[in-house]
Amino acid sequence: MAELQSVERALEALLDGVAPLEAEPVAAEQAAGRVLAETVTARLDVPPADNSAMDGYALRHADAGGWLPISQRVAAGHAPAPLAPGSCARIFTGGEIPPGADTVVMQERVEIREDRAFIPGDIAAGDNVRRCGRDVSTGEPLLEAGTLLEAAALGHLAGQGITRVSVRRRPRVALLSTGDEIVDPGQPLGPGQIHNSNRPMLSRLLERFGAELVMRETVPDDFATTRRILGEAAERADVIITTGGVSVGEEDHVRHALESLGRLDLWQLAMRPGKPLALGRIGRARFVGLPGNPVSCFVGAWVYLRPLMGALLGSPRMAELPRLWARAAFTTRTQARRHYMRVALDFTPEGVLARAFADQNSAVLSSCLDADALAVIPANSTLEEGDTVECLWLTH
Ligand code: AMP
Ligand code: MG
Repeated sequence: MAELQSVERALEALLDGVAPLEAEPVAAEQAAGRVLAETVTARLDVPPADNSAMDGYALRHADAGGWLPISQRVAAGHAPAPLAPGSCARIFTGGEIPPGADTVVMQERVEIREDRAFIPGDIAAGDNVRRCGRDVSTGEPLLEAGTLLEAAALGHLAGQGITRVSVRRRPRVALLSTGDEIVDPGQPLGPGQIHNSNRPMLSRLLERFGAELVMRETVPDDFATTRRILGEAAERADVIITTGGVSVGEEDHVRHALESLGRLDLWQLAMRPGKPLALGRIGRARFVGLPGNPVSCFVGAWVYLRPLMGALLGSPRMAELPRLWARAAFTTRTQARRHYMRVALDFTPEGVLARAFADQNSAVLSSCLDADALAVIPANSTLEEGDTVECLWLTH
């Protein structure tokens, strides 16, 4: 039997030579979840002028500690006049500080009699003033190339009045489900047949990883058909993903079809689940052959497909799963393969606790339902309850 390859070597082979895809323009309103292709520079100061953080009274700090006439009223969105000497201005949150004023006192601390305000003396210069450019200064990098455009980044772009951005094209993915027994939900099941659970599961994960599915096919366990559909996928997709048919049985045709069209870079991994996973390429398309068991697909997607999409999108945040350390609420022992156990995380005041689903068999998809993380158990090791365990957090 071929020697098992490490996950690190597999990732290296998979990502070798992968460069970010082309840039394309997109409306900022449509840019959620996309990855910036170039750094965006700030073209406006935010805020555009000094303004008030409170509803209150604006004054020169030197005039604090006495009664001051209220010489004007400044609401947000309206230009103030210069502050008359020895006076204060009624001001509202977001209102521009009148030229000459430098401090705002919140209204709760001010006593009003007719058109005069008593300003306490124990205030500091600059209190409650949001300085021009404090958030963003013109000419500074606003968002770096490679930024995943999530909520705060979209708000930041809008704050600059930006309506179009340059983002990476979504990786085009062909998702091929192999197996004579595989039937779509909605179709009747014949003897020995099962519904295709991998396709919707992987479709959802790939969507989260920023990909666009351009081809979905169910492929029978037959060499000629497998080869034909793989060839077609290589024409259309940046990434070809197959499920099933990649092991050593006579009905497993994917590897031979791959080798007849392109090349197999690596096969047989020192990981559990997912040992028969195969990596290669056909023409310019990358090939990832996931084993058919749903849990192997789930784990394989997080461990291999997400970094691959991250590399194609030029997004470091997508490329690397966040790691955290938790206390194991279980005991386990591994042999020659590293085990990726599906765990739920409890965030407690004493730290993070990782709870493993009882049945970690690769055919048991329920073990993924509550999975917040994959606990990584090194090969040839024993983990006792209470030991610290490295976890890959299944999140952004
Ligand atoms: P294979 O890797 O083709 O030997 O498949 C391993 C196991 O996964 C078999 O029990 C298959 O029936 C099952 N399987 C393969 N593909 C799927 C799928 N798309 N959905 C659910 N189970 C599958
Ligand atoms: Mg099969």
